[in-house]
Amino acid sequence: MDAEHSSATRRPVAVALGATVTASGATALPATGAPAPAKSGATALSATGAPPRSAKTIPGAPQDGGLLDRFGRVATDLRVSVIDKCNLRCTYCMPADGMPWLPQTQLMSADEIRRIVRVAVQSLGAEELRITGGEPLVRKDLEVIIAGIRDDNPDLPISMTTNAVGLDRRAQALKDAGLTRLNVSLDTLHPETFAELTRRPHLDKVLAGLEAARAAGLGPIKINAVLLRGMNDTEVVPLVDWAVTNGFEMRFIEDMPLDGDRSWSATNVIPARDIRAAIEEAFTLTADPRGRGAAPAERWEVRRPGETAVAGHIGIISSVTEPFCAACTRTRVTADGKVRSCLFSHEETDLLSALREGTDDAGIAQVWRDAMWAKPRAHGSDRVGLARADFVQPERTMSAIGG
Ligand code: SAM
Ligand code: SF4
Repeated sequence: MDAEHSSATRRPVAVALGATVTASGATALPATGAPAPAKSGATALSATGAPPRSAKTIPGAPQDGGLLDRFGRVATDLRVSVIDKCNLRCTYCMPADGMPWLPQTQLMSADEIRRIVRVAVQSLGAEELRITGGEPLVRKDLEVIIAGIRDDNPDLPISMTTNAVGLDRRAQALKDAGLTRLNVSLDTLHPETFAELTRRPHLDKVLAGLEAARAAGLGPIKINAVLLRGMNDTEVVPLVDWAVTNGFEMRFIEDMPLDGDRSWSATNVIPARDIRAAIEEAFTLTADPRGRGAAPAERWEVRRPGETAVAGHIGIISSVTEPFCAACTRTRVTADGKVRSCLFSHEETDLLSALREGTDDAGIAQVWRDAMWAKPRAHGSDRVGLARADFVQPERTMSAIGG
């Protein structure tokens, strides 16, 4: 087999970290703690003009066992995107007009996804699977995909990240197919803000989906929210209150430079410590005794004022201001079957072509090991930090990678 099944057809885009795109309106949380701007004043994002880079093979990758990288991390947490399309257009993720979607022939089929997951679990030691997208529910054969994976891997925890639009009609079938857990993205409880933020008026559909998921016994259910300055940053406490009341775990994710509009700005990131401080004005937070492990979220127990009983849990994913790259255990496969060793990678390894060329399971596993051995230290580079002057936003955006 070829040493490299590599392709990187998309070019990285340089991000002006100092760019300030301040939304008008309320700014409930201060703009502190975001990485220091590398450049000042610039708002324009420019293409680098660099040619597409092929994933390099770095000598030294193990020839058996799991997905080890050069920094001693072992990837056991598999994230597979099943589609790049989505039915929402969240401003922090997708442009208003969507993206150039992958042609059907480039999407992994249900059988191809099943095979790739089987190799990851049975040959490479993957311990859990998260299905993501794009929006996984846009795939009509999602139940078939999950049922196939479940048949091969009876004990594998299978979770899904979804916007829950349309979940009300499919929650039970997904549960029956073998889905275990759910993360639902919901950034606001106000219909108008929802429509502005996602560019679609579907808050009621998300809430119906959540209700159906709970009724189907899919759990635990976590709610993912990205806070945007001037948009929904006044909703930290109401979201926690609502989640705790409904038995959901609320998770706040710092806005990352992976948006399709290329308008991300470090100064607009609401830092984890400000989110914590806002919550602590209404609740008591205590570090979750279960700890963080390799989980991206720092987890906290939530108590209501004057109460000793734990009312619920929250998590804060501080990818920008308090990165956790040193403990990363993730390996990602895009909907077109490319391994991305890091969210911010500029290089990808083409697993699907290897598979379609007839490579056997052992060969697929080795292509994957080689890809993960080259995993960069942090944020797409062997140098650390999103605040690096040379940080370059990857060409693939969050919806095309699979968050
Ligand atoms: N469509 C599904 C959803 O929204 O849950 C799954 C795919 S979405 C790309 C996965 C997660 O990525 C969501 O929780 C979303 O909020 C998050 N996300 C998208 N763009 C992001 C960004 N620029 N920064 C941080 N999180 C982002
Ligand atoms: Fe779609 Fe999810 Fe991106 Fe929102 S975050 S546009 S729901 S893929």
